[in-house]
Amino acid sequence: MLATIQHWVVWGMLVLGVFTLWGTLRKVNPYGRHLHQGQPGTLPARPAWLLFEAPQWFSFALTFWLTARSPSPPAITLFALWQAHYIHRAILYPLRMRESGKRFPLSGVIFGFVFNAANGFANGYAVAHAPHLAGTGWFDDARFRAGLAVAAAGWWINFQADSILIGLRGDGSSGYKIPYGGMFRYVSAANYFGEMVLWFGWALMSWTFAGLVFALFTVSNLLPRALSHHRWYREKFPDYPAERKAVIPLFL
Ligand code: NDP
Repeated sequence: MLATIQHWVVWGMLVLGVFTLWGTLRKVNPYGRHLHQGQPGTLPARPAWLLFEAPQWFSFALTFWLTARSPSPPAITLFALWQAHYIHRAILYPLRMRESGKRFPLSGVIFGFVFNAANGFANGYAVAHAPHLAGTGWFDDARFRAGLAVAAAGWWINFQADSILIGLRGDGSSGYKIPYGGMFRYVSAANYFGEMVLWFGWALMSWTFAGLVFALFTVSNLLPRALSHHRWYREKFPDYPAERKAVIPLFL
């Protein structure tokens, strides 16, 4: 029964990803610099992030521990890596960010909460039940090792980029500056580039359809936003580095 639900949840996320790409290419998600002045139905940004990211860790954890029969070391390792990332993303990052009084649309909080609960369930169930993760042999598999290396590189790029952005308001200012350093040398949305690399690494090291669908969803959500950020920087800063791409170094 749960396996069937998980199957349809993952396919639902895939279909949603297609609509998300179509929708966000037409209209950028209205938060951060793209929030409309005086938009009704918003929450303060920090509690909004704490709220809508939370299901990624609790939904994954509940699904994993309530449904896994006898979790193997590779499955527990993947569980631990997911939790480590989401303890950072859902708790530490919202506390670190300098949101300077920004607000977040309530519709985005509700959508994010529901999607993240579904995604935590889908990936927690996949890791708990994938046959190839049942024995310690997966640790020696090239997909696990390569995926771990890719995910670690993506995580670091994302963390470094987020830290550079947080540092731009270290003087107490609330506006926007041109970010320099790390992967910002090559792209305007270095944090999104790192995020996409991270989730393709996860898809490879977990080798699950749910992992792949989340990586694709991340691209459909963040790639159009990265293109908007890039256009916005170029319009706002006449001295913006001309050689910088939007999100994929040297390419896009
Ligand atoms: P943004 O790059 O839009 O903003 C990140 C933070 O940095 C915000 O607090 C923003 O302030 C601030 N900031 C951005 N640019 C500048 C600048 N030039 N000068 C000063 N401050 C700046 O990222 P998101 O908020 O969309 O995402 C935050 C993190 O969450 C990222 O690491 C992203 O990868 C991750 N994420 C992952 C998703 C996924 O699908 N897996 C989905 C969404 C986010 P302000 O809010 O005022 O603009």
